[in-house]
Amino acid sequence: MRVLFVTSEIAPLIKTGGLADVSAALPAELHAMGVDVRVLLPGYAQVLKACPVLESVAQLAGLPGLPEVNLLQGTLPDGVPFWVIDCPEMYQRGGGIYQDEHGQDWPDNALRFGLLSKVAALLGSSATPLQWRPDVVHCNDWQSALTPAYLHYAEGAVPVVMTVHNLAFQGIFPSSVVPELGLSWDSFKPDGAEFYGNLSFLKAGLFYARHITTVSPSYAQEIQKDELGFGLQGLLASRSESLTGILNGIDNAEWNPEADINIAQPYSAANLSGKAASKQALQKHMGLRVDPDIPVLGMVSRFTQQKGLDMVLEIAPELIALPAQLVLLGSGDTDMQRKALDLAHHYPGQIGAYVGFDEGLSHLIEAGADIFLMPSRFEPCGLNQMYSQRYGTPPVVHATGGLRDSVVDCNAATLGRGDATGFVFDMLTTQSLLNTVQRAVTAFHDKGVWTALQRNGMGKNFGWEKSAAAYLKIYSAL
Ligand code: ADP
Repeated sequence: MRVLFVTSEIAPLIKTGGLADVSAALPAELHAMGVDVRVLLPGYAQVLKACPVLESVAQLAGLPGLPEVNLLQGTLPDGVPFWVIDCPEMYQRGGGIYQDEHGQDWPDNALRFGLLSKVAALLGSSATPLQWRPDVVHCNDWQSALTPAYLHYAEGAVPVVMTVHNLAFQGIFPSSVVPELGLSWDSFKPDGAEFYGNLSFLKAGLFYARHITTVSPSYAQEIQKDELGFGLQGLLASRSESLTGILNGIDNAEWNPEADINIAQPYSAANLSGKAASKQALQKHMGLRVDPDIPVLGMVSRFTQQKGLDMVLEIAPELIALPAQLVLLGSGDTDMQRKALDLAHHYPGQIGAYVGFDEGLSHLIEAGADIFLMPSRFEPCGLNQMYSQRYGTPPVVHATGGLRDSVVDCNAATLGRGDATGFVFDMLTTQSLLNTVQRAVTAFHDKGVWTALQRNGMGKNFGWEKSAAAYLKIYSAL
């Protein structure tokens, strides 16, 4: 089985969110299972800097008006071969990969990711200049979602699996980009890539792909309904026969409290004592009062409405009155960033906030916090709630998407069965969030209950084996 895995980010080379983690871990797991999987990604400055020795393997025609691009080849640390599209005018610039340094989307994003899709389609058709040809192309999110639209008009096209990691991002552009992308006008129709007069990359992907997957079973159901369908619920419902939800796994080597260089002391389910050292280190690092008995609430997240951080900020005074301490790490919405920093300033010793991206600190929070907060309004899968279970830090989550599928609410029945791992609330209100954190804090002070909860979570296997096998089954069926 030969699979071309197309992505716009991959950890640790370039990461803005969960897609990067999946793009690193899923191909690695497939590779270990004997699948000949290869990754295709844009040649951002960060990637070329991190991989200075890449071999040029082909010159490819990209988009109309653009010069030929250079395809570079390398091998990822876990043995997965990868190709990088070298096109400096598209990918080598300062700022972020989707936005400039002021947080504005790059004005040529349609071309930048149209190029990614175009190259993927070329490699998946008989026009490829490479010896290697995939059996399946696996695209991820809107950035590579034009691939199946291009392939629809290509000779010798292989089937495409389209994975939705977050339906909220669709890649919508004015129709004027259609000719610039070298896309057939024939595809620009409601039964195709058109979305209310604009071009939608993601809609094209969902329409033309042979099979659609999303990153949790619950989210696969939710996106077929008005509330979370973002205007694509009709199309998704019409394709429900070809839509599968597969829960993401986590990288058990990267996220392992027994061998994590970012935490103060290793610990395990059998011997949890080392966790206290990370709690103390976290309290010191964030300027909190060092106290082993007060529960520390942790949150690591993009600062957006989706993640429900606004609710946490709103009830922060009530949370610390429980009493508890609060640690926030993330970046995004400038208003939320300011509020988080203001709170830390107002409640020194009780609230700590760090605005920015800090991988090491995110590990320390998973280990050093007692309770993890993830009150997302919607959550396609979510990784942090799985990391936190693995680190003995029971999460408080809203019952949505992957959170619903990966956390078991703590009550007498689930505790009795030994499968309780966290705290789940249904109603999305600040009151219900506060009540649920209160429930978690009460449990925290009951040592027997708490240790059981921690051990249940740490004993769960969130590894990729099962999910990778589910993807392989879909590839094989195609
Ligand atoms: P999403 O992809 O919607 O952002 P996920 O929970 O699926 O959410 O994945 C987010 C990933 O990014 C996790 O690995 C999380 O730890 C990481 N992350 C998010 N914000 C930060 C940050 N400010 N610093 C470090 N890691 C972060």
